[in-house]
Amino acid sequence: MILDSFGRNHNYLRISLTDNCNLRCFYCMPEEEYEFTPASRLMQADEIEAISKIFVAQGVNKIRLTGGEPLVRKDAGKIILSLSKLPVKLTLTTNGTRIHEFIELLKEANIQTLNISLDTLQSDRFMLLTRRDQFKLVYDNIQLLIRNNFQVKVNVVVMKGMNDGEINDFIEWTKDTPIQIRFIEFMPFSGNRWTSNKVFTWQEILEVVQTKYPIVRLEDEINDTAKKYTVPGHTGSFAVISTMTSPFCSGCNRMRLTADGKMKNCLFSKEETDLLTAFRKGEDILPLIQKSIASKAKELGGQFTADFEQVHAEEIQNRSMITIGG
Ligand code: SAM
Ligand code: SF4
Repeated sequence: MILDSFGRNHNYLRISLTDNCNLRCFYCMPEEEYEFTPASRLMQADEIEAISKIFVAQGVNKIRLTGGEPLVRKDAGKIILSLSKLPVKLTLTTNGTRIHEFIELLKEANIQTLNISLDTLQSDRFMLLTRRDQFKLVYDNIQLLIRNNFQVKVNVVVMKGMNDGEINDFIEWTKDTPIQIRFIEFMPFSGNRWTSNKVFTWQEILEVVQTKYPIVRLEDEINDTAKKYTVPGHTGSFAVISTMTSPFCSGCNRMRLTADGKMKNCLFSKEETDLLTAFRKGEDILPLIQKSIASKAKELGGQFTADFEQVHAEEIQNRSMITIGG
């Protein structure tokens, strides 16, 4: 078991495969010109497998691959297949642009659930948010996954004045489609132009939905970060990830590995532990993992509180989201 000083057991590892991406979502990428990490500094496929096995031996039973965009990495398929042999629930967060190239491999790896990011149902707004004209491709790939019986969760970062007017369009999508829409409160990361007045809160999201639909709260699962709801009669459901207004840190079971092999004990932690360098020197990395988790803060990396209107993004020491792995 990997326990922290608050008795939380950590059995969920999120691995970033790369900080490279084929989209340019402004809330994720730093504003300044950004150079992607060269391949030699990234964990190699065999290193990802070996390091994952060390976590699995300590009780990790779920691994999520993320990035950057995990599916732009050349050996993504090889990594997915190698991790699929481990006794874990393997899953993926992706922007959906390359799903059509990977669908057979995802089946072979027995992946059942995927999170696909799509913040708008309007192609011109997609272009504005991501600086790439790929709305149709992502939308079609979500349909492709559904037709192939994958469970799809659609991640929507809600930003005031940007896409908050589309909340009920997403809810309408759940009427006849078996998807879960996950509305995510906009979070601050290095260089992502976050200000508290752009956060569209959990409460505000529910108020908007209730202007048009009756809603029913669904039961939370253990370690769940999402508050789940459904509209009676709808095939799909929706959820809110309320990191900024109601964090779920008390049940946190997550650990993160950046693409360059640094362990983060929290999405918002300042400190990082360099597992890859130690691993390459042949050192035992388990004590490093345990030490990292032992120093985990009670909530939000110890950097701010749920009083989000008092948060000053420039005071938070962290990486940009694209280099952490969401
Ligand atoms: N490229 C993949 C994708 O877009 O799904 C995986 C990486 S992305 C960093 C993972 C998730 O983080 C996405 O759902 C994205 O919307 C979310 N994300 C990125 N920046 C965010 C922010 N500032 N606040 C909330 N969620 C954010
Ligand atoms: Fe790329 Fe995902 Fe970040 Fe968008 S959210 S820039 S798709 S890593």
